[in-house]
Amino acid sequence: NPFARAEFRISCADLQQLPRDEQPEIAFAGRSNAGKSSALNTICNHKQLARVSKTPGRTQLINLFEIPNIGRFADLPGYGYAEVPAAMRKGWGKLIGNYVDVRTNLRGIVLIMDIRHPMTDFDTQMLDWAQQAARPVHILLTKADKLGFGASKNQLLKVRRELEVYEQRPTIQLFSSQEKTGLEEAIATILTLMGH
Ligand code: GDP
Repeated sequence: NPFARAEFRISCADLQQLPRDEQPEIAFAGRSNAGKSSALNTICNHKQLARVSKTPGRTQLINLFEIPNIGRFADLPGYGYAEVPAAMRKGWGKLIGNYVDVRTNLRGIVLIMDIRHPMTDFDTQMLDWAQQAARPVHILLTKADKLGFGASKNQLLKVRRELEVYEQRPTIQLFSSQEKTGLEEAIATILTLMGH
C-alpha cells in the first residue's frame, strides 16, 4: 500500500497557507461522524494518522498529509447536524467551496458517507461544488459492516440511482474501516485519480 508512507504535514486555516500546488492532491470530505478519519487511517494503514484532524483547534482546518513521490491528501473539515452555528458554517462554506474551486492540483474528492445515512445536505453541497469545478468524486459508503450483504448492495444501488442527476457521474463503492471491505478498490481508484 503506497499510502502507508503518508505523514502529517500542516494544518491550514486559509488557502494562502496551503503549500504550493504542484503535487497531485486528493481531498477527503465527510459529514462529521460519517467515518472519514477511520477511512483515512485505513487507507493509510495507520491507526491514528487522522487523529491530528480531531485535536482541538484543528477540526475546522484543512489538514494536509504528504505521501512521498505520490502527492498529498487534504483532510477537509466536516460539520454535523445542528451543532455548528450559522456563522461558522458560512466560514466553512467559504473555505471549502473556494478550495474546491481554485486548488488547481486537486485531482479528485473522496466523499465519505455513512451507509445508513447517505446523501445528507453536507454531501449534496460537496457534490454540487465538485460538479461546478469539474472535480471527479469517488464515494465511499462506509460502515458497510453495519448492514448485511443484501442491504448494503441495495443501498449502493439506491444511492447510485440518486447520483444519476449529476452530469459528471461520481463513482461509488462499499467500504468498511472495521472489516477493511473495499480497501483495495479504494486504493486503486485514488491512485488512478492521482495519475498513477
Ligand atoms: P469522522 O468524524 O467522520 O472522522 O468519523 P470517525 O472516523 O471518527 O468515526 C465515527 C464513528 O464511527 C466512530 O465511533 C468509529 O469507530 C465508527 N466507525 C467508523 N468507521 C466505521 C466502520 O467502517 N465500521 C463501523 N462499525 N464503525 C465505524
